[in-house]
Amino acid sequence: MPHIRGDASVTLKSLSKIKHVRAFTVRGGGADYHDQGEGHWIDNHIATPMSRYPEYRQSRQSFGINVLGTLVVEIEAEDGTIGFAVTTGGEPACYIVEKHLARFLEGRSPLEYEKIWDQMYFSTQYYGRKGLVINAISGVDLALWDLLGKLRQEPVYHMLGGAVRDELQFYATGARPDIAKELGFIGGKMALHHGPAEGVEGLKKNIAELAEMRERVGPDFWLMWDCWMALDVDYATRLAIAAHEYGLKWIEEAISPDDYWGYAELRRNVPRGMLVTTGEHEATRWGFRMLLDMECCDIIQPDVGWCGGITELLKISALADAKGKMVVPHGSSVYSYHFVITRHNSPFAEFLMMHPGPTEVVPMFAPQLLGEPVPVNGRLKASALDAPGFGVTFNPDVATHRPYTH
Ligand SMILES: [Mg+2]
Repeated sequence: MPHIRGDASVTLKSLSKIKHVRAFTVRGGGADYHDQGEGHWIDNHIATPMSRYPEYRQSRQSFGINVLGTLVVEIEAEDGTIGFAVTTGGEPACYIVEKHLARFLEGRSPLEYEKIWDQMYFSTQYYGRKGLVINAISGVDLALWDLLGKLRQEPVYHMLGGAVRDELQFYATGARPDIAKELGFIGGKMALHHGPAEGVEGLKKNIAELAEMRERVGPDFWLMWDCWMALDVDYATRLAIAAHEYGLKWIEEAISPDDYWGYAELRRNVPRGMLVTTGEHEATRWGFRMLLDMECCDIIQPDVGWCGGITELLKISALADAKGKMVVPHGSSVYSYHFVITRHNSPFAEFLMMHPGPTEVVPMFAPQLLGEPVPVNGRLKASALDAPGFGVTFNPDVATHRPYTH
């Protein structure tokens, strides 16, 4: 027997502790990607649950889709290293981060992300659980992973298990799948323009738009519809059946995220081979467990900045993996890329086309992040993520505002 021994004289390197947590708001695109100027495809008569009111039908900004703005969370370690992250949440999320969540980080080691997440979640559970509070928790969690990567001099994807493939491949979300095809993407997802309140006439217009796009992209290119919670089960079923002959690959977020029963019914109703997807407005392992246990969909689409951050996404993803389901995060830029490259059940990623046309590839969270990678020919090499943390810095030219302190 060879003699096996550990070297008891080795001392583990201790990481710098967390000194301070700060929260800022930013206006104008970036992580709050709905906060765009006039004439942008993302605010052009897109079907929503508010489309039943004619006065809110043309523009999502008219009912306040961009009221929150971006939340920037900054976590400074005692040695001066700063981790940061951006998500949606704006001023009210700043209040939650500064006045409530910061206490669970300051003076502690960034290694304790499990305990920190647990304390952030359970201390806010009486007013949190989903939505804004989980956005705020996600922002803190992502900033913590960014700090940890910077302190360890490792990209986040290394800390998540390393790349399982050499590159990411993307589908594009925007109004021009035909241009996305030319740009090398594997598919194109369009916003649905007409909801149930626009009747049979609207349904026919939706189908005509799909038929025209199918004509332009040919038979094999993936085409999908994002319905942004706008429909009911009956309308979504009729739409899916009518769309089948034009090869619709999936119908996304067709109904309210609260209607798990409706999703289960829709999934039984759609033509065989068409996928039902949802989850961008779902949060935490418990929310996604409902979607998975109730057989609501074929692909779950957590937004990394809204579902609870990376720490929670690891749990959500493991649940989905055991159920044989794919996890394809909604948007999320670098926070998605560092995760997707590490998981077999995340075989491709979404790229939000934030160019107003959208006729060219621009960074998803422009102008907020410097060093934000973009797909080239619809792909991104794992090596493009090789920088500490999430590999991006906050653009110093973007004006920030810190509404609260502690
Ligand atoms: Mg969507």
